[in-house]
Amino acid sequence: MTTDPMTTDPMTTDPTTLPTTARIPYGGDYNPEQWPDPVWDEDHRAFDLARIDTLTVGVFVWSLTQPAEEVYDLTVLERILDRAQAEGRQVCLATGTGAVPPWLAHRYPEVCRTDFEGRRHVYGQRHNACPSSPAYRRLAAALAGRVAERFADHPAVIAWHVNNEYGGACYCDLCAAEFRIWLRERYGTLDRLNDAWNAVFWSHRFTDWAEVVPPNALSEHWRGPDHTAFQGITLDYLRFTSDNLLRTFREEKDAIRQHSDLPVTTNFMGMYRPIDYHRWAEHLDLASWDNYPPDDRSASRMALTHDLMRGLKDGQPFWLMEQTPTVTASRDVNPVKRPGVMRLWSWQAVAHGADAVLFFQMRQSRGACEKYHGAVLDHAGRTDTRSFREVAALGAELEALGDRTLGARTPARVAVLFDWDSWWALEISDGPNRNLRYQRTVIDHHRALWEAGAQVDVVPVTADLTRYDVVVAPLLHMVKGDLAERLEAVAERGGTVVTTVLSGRVDEDDNAFLADVPGPLARLLGIRVDETDAQAPEVRNPVRLVVGDDELVTGSHTVFDLVLPQGAEVVGTYGADFYAGTAAVTRNRFGRGEAWYLGTCLEQDGLDLVLRHVLARHGLVGPYADAPGVEHAVREVDGRRYEFLLHHGDVRVEVDAHADGTDLLSGRRVVRGEVIALEPTDVVVLEVG
Ligand SMILES: [Zn+2]
Repeated sequence: MTTDPMTTDPMTTDPTTLPTTARIPYGGDYNPEQWPDPVWDEDHRAFDLARIDTLTVGVFVWSLTQPAEEVYDLTVLERILDRAQAEGRQVCLATGTGAVPPWLAHRYPEVCRTDFEGRRHVYGQRHNACPSSPAYRRLAAALAGRVAERFADHPAVIAWHVNNEYGGACYCDLCAAEFRIWLRERYGTLDRLNDAWNAVFWSHRFTDWAEVVPPNALSEHWRGPDHTAFQGITLDYLRFTSDNLLRTFREEKDAIRQHSDLPVTTNFMGMYRPIDYHRWAEHLDLASWDNYPPDDRSASRMALTHDLMRGLKDGQPFWLMEQTPTVTASRDVNPVKRPGVMRLWSWQAVAHGADAVLFFQMRQSRGACEKYHGAVLDHAGRTDTRSFREVAALGAELEALGDRTLGARTPARVAVLFDWDSWWALEISDGPNRNLRYQRTVIDHHRALWEAGAQVDVVPVTADLTRYDVVVAPLLHMVKGDLAERLEAVAERGGTVVTTVLSGRVDEDDNAFLADVPGPLARLLGIRVDETDAQAPEVRNPVRLVVGDDELVTGSHTVFDLVLPQGAEVVGTYGADFYAGTAAVTRNRFGRGEAWYLGTCLEQDGLDLVLRHVLARHGLVGPYADAPGVEHAVREVDGRRYEFLLHHGDVRVEVDAHADGTDLLSGRRVVRGEVIALEPTDVVVLEVG
């Protein structure tokens, strides 16, 4: 008999933030409950071959661990954990609440979400529980508590994995009621709410909280979730949805904490718009994420996402919780990872701060929608396939590396600001251009820094900026709190700030600043924007950039600010249209530093020129910046420095080593100035010194 996890005293010891491991945990999602016992034997023999030491267990077992509301049966988890322990493997144990069992939805139909179109769903799929449902919240937390109570002291367990890939939204009556509570807590009074939403527009002045309904296809929206008549209510519903899901995570975590002080995480999805991971981060002990890039040419995008995930916990290492060893099944077309690519991308994660390399999944599903999703073991369970051999080879490398890089930090002097509020506000905005996409723009700016070999932190707008020489803030649409003053302080002390078109436009309520554009950033940037033009995607306006001794004519697109310098120097001018010859890019001396304004979307070569010049001013261009396809990332711990060289290009390149060191993968001693030849997908992990 077990006690109610919500009524016992919480653990009093402080939880550790990272699991204690002897080396980089290697393995991934393991679902042996879907297989008979002889297969378990086969699994563990294969895991030994691949040096797999870590298994994520129980992510989707709710229908087994609680077959009816009154019945808990954790024997399947016990058998999996006991076997893992006997085989010398450690476990990241899931609460199992990622998908609700049929009986729960049947008994409590409220658990099924109501979608954007207003349709109440019936049972199916996963990640589909209404986060406001009292039955769901009660039963999910209770299960988490049962699992934690039973296995808190199990020697195999090193971390807790709550739910899975939180996301989506619900628009049911329960959520509407919770939204009103959330609004009352945020605004206090209806007057404040009406002001925040500019409700006097279109006669929307609310006189009773009960009049507020969720913004969806039946109310404020047309043409889908991004087209709303009232940005204020839609923005708040996005914030509320993220917070409401976070509450369910916290309820499960609290239930675990009654019994265990081991680290708790949930697997994020990188640049995932529906959830503000910055608001979640403080509630996780350990950040983790699932890396499924949209295509196979995503090296810079993955670097950015790793940097974003590392930034969630102030630079603390994260876990790569999932990646496919070979192939995904969710795209229309699913190419296999080419030879060497899984290894290259795994080392890239480590280079950017991953302290675990985990796959989805260990054995390929025999049925349902992931039966063609790749796995460490295929349907035949073979260990002589190309992909298994690559998994085993990487396992040997990670085992040989040992604990050297665990806990290592990235010594970044460059920050990219990333802000879910600006992302949401910009993309639900009517005007100036629907083709202006937040994620794409951040990727382009980060890529220019990445190509130049800079070590970059991707951080929230609330981050401490005093540690950075360069702060790049693409599409800083919303300026909140004292951010403008903190950016001024960066330039004041000699740093460089770079921001772009559509920055400094709105306050935290998404209402325009009643001032010259760019509002609170105008003083720092030394400009005034009079108009913002927008054009179809194919339109290019040439911009002539003159930066130091460099001169370049690049293209600009999508949106075009008409910039009037108010003390700033003109660095780039438009070449066409009625604003030909006027400022497109400016630089303002401010204090001992400077602030750049990119008044349009520059083509990549223009961004490269500007940002490389900015980095050069601070001596932050990397040593391999001119080697095509070669990524350079640095981690440091306990006085040791690791330099990762990762070759994403298609052709062999040769670089001159910039430091003495030992390549930990080959054992080769490298002397400064010596030529290192890198074939495509090659990786060097140089321990410097
Ligand atoms: Zn709901």
